[in-house]
Amino acid sequence: MGIAVSPNSAFLASLNLVAQDGFSFDTTKSDCSRLFLLTLLNIDFKMPTFQSLNVGILIFLFRIRRIASLRQNFATSSSPPRHLCHLRPSPHLPRLQSALDRFSALPSNLPMRAMVLEKPGQPLRAVELPTPSPAPGQVLVRVRACAVCRTDLHLLDGELPHPKLPLVPGHEIIGTIIIKGEGVQRFNPGDRVGIPWLGWTCGECRFCRSDRENLCEQARFTGYTIDGGYAEYTVADARFCFPIPAAYSDAQAAPLMCAGLIGYRSLLKAGNGARLGIYGFGAAGHIITQVAKFQGRKVYAFTRSGDVRGQEFAKKVGAFWAGDSDSLPPDPLDAAIIFAPAGELVPQALRALDLGGIVVCGGIHMSDIPAFPYEILWQERRVCSVANLTRLDGEEFLALAPRVPVITQVQTFPLESANDALASLRQGKIQGAAVLMIS
Ligand SMILES: [Zn+2]
Ligand SMILES: [Zn+2]
Repeated sequence: MGIAVSPNSAFLASLNLVAQDGFSFDTTKSDCSRLFLLTLLNIDFKMPTFQSLNVGILIFLFRIRRIASLRQNFATSSSPPRHLCHLRPSPHLPRLQSALDRFSALPSNLPMRAMVLEKPGQPLRAVELPTPSPAPGQVLVRVRACAVCRTDLHLLDGELPHPKLPLVPGHEIIGTIIIKGEGVQRFNPGDRVGIPWLGWTCGECRFCRSDRENLCEQARFTGYTIDGGYAEYTVADARFCFPIPAAYSDAQAAPLMCAGLIGYRSLLKAGNGARLGIYGFGAAGHIITQVAKFQGRKVYAFTRSGDVRGQEFAKKVGAFWAGDSDSLPPDPLDAAIIFAPAGELVPQALRALDLGGIVVCGGIHMSDIPAFPYEILWQERRVCSVANLTRLDGEEFLALAPRVPVITQVQTFPLESANDALASLRQGKIQGAAVLMIS
């Protein structure tokens, strides 16, 4: 099965197996098989002969799955077959329950694969890190896919202040919940969730209390100030995770988590105008074009000068017009969203605007904006930025995306090729989004 290579992978693979089968691993339920399993696993970790025992654990797991399905039959049948009558709760449950309480979190010293930023300016390094344990309110998630965002490049280049270091980057995570920390009410083990950029907010500041948690001064951000998804496992505050629409594969859902969500917030800021310009046609551009077209708008896509391939791609995903970013569109724009981190695009986009139009800067970092004549801002044109996302943005967008339907184009890389994925993104070689697949 290729699983029993280390205590960590066997243990986690076992939990996955249980979780994927919909066999709940909820610590509030009592099931002697699960309790016994946990106890057994915990003992095994401490023993030098654990590898041979892993096979036993897996066989045991299959037996548990069988018992679980028999139990279900038993519960739904009005006259249970006689041979199932031994499947009764064990009298030892209370003792086993207390054992489970002790082992409800994963041992934190077991290794997992991760790509880590140790210092800005250096490539990510493939390392083994301890698998994190979920704190109260958190879930432990087995990462399946994590999209690569331009923000990750800004982190690598030291353009964002005060990152956690060393850091596991990645804030467009799709994964499966393995276990829930204390007090988590939402979700169940086995549920597929998305983990976005916004990882935690205080809930008390003036921004949080006025539906602007995206501006929370104490906010924590996935893959920036807290570890993210360039790893086999991660923990996340369950309140900030999203259920993922079933229509999407893991790889295709990953770019929805930032390119989609923050792109959607940028689209909201842009207002309802019918003619929308998009500068920088990457992951966010190709998603938001589909949404805008669905809303009945015309999208004007601007790419790097001479990027014919990018312009063809923009038209393929629904742009009405595509051209170089230093050219003017055939019609004045009601709004323009700038996803590229290039400050010189701001005056360019202002020049393309109709009276009263708006330029929305959708990225977290941008090079300096050059001076420009007041004349191109005059007539109530506006420039604004978009910061982060709120959970409401996420809920709205994830309800909308399958209705469009937004189809993401992705280029996948293995986890250990994260540096290649980042380099391809930097060089403009990715059409759509780059996604790390973590097996
Ligand atoms: Zn706050
Ligand atoms: Zn991002």
